[in-house]
Amino acid sequence: MYGLLTVWRKPFYFAPLAPGDRFINLTLSAESGNTTAMKCYTHKDTEAVAVCVHCGRALCAVCAAPSQSGRLVCSPACAAASKEMEESIASTRHKANRSARVNAYFCFGLGAIFVVSAVAMYFDIQSWPLSIFIGASGLGLCLAGMGFNRVAKRNTERGAT
Ligand SMILES: [Zn+2]
Ligand SMILES: [Zn+2]
Repeated sequence: MYGLLTVWRKPFYFAPLAPGDRFINLTLSAESGNTTAMKCYTHKDTEAVAVCVHCGRALCAVCAAPSQSGRLVCSPACAAASKEMEESIASTRHKANRSARVNAYFCFGLGAIFVVSAVAMYFDIQSWPLSIFIGASGLGLCLAGMGFNRVAKRNTERGAT
């Protein structure tokens, strides 16, 4: 069961941490100190306003150019590389999103079967402990399904298909 869960959860943990993701960029710029205190890589006297999302060079307002998706890059080469990375992130998100949706249906389906079995079991063999146990498992699965559903919904809001 543990192994199965690990495999299930993998896409969610790894998708937001893909290289070049906004999350990483934020962490990196936070670690390297206040970006506004840095100087532009090309214009040593000008204060940097951004950092290239691909190579990490400090950029001033003149040097920073938005990539296709609006992220700031230093050169067309970095724009192309960043675009490639964004596409791979989008496909990773898509996969994570799809698996979250599948997990949601799976948990809801199994949960519903468990709850129905619990009710049927009570009427059939009048065993309270067993039907409570199975009913609780079923409700747990439904909650897990809701969690997966929320992940899928959040991913959709973030632009995944
Ligand atoms: Zn660059
Ligand atoms: Zn500059």
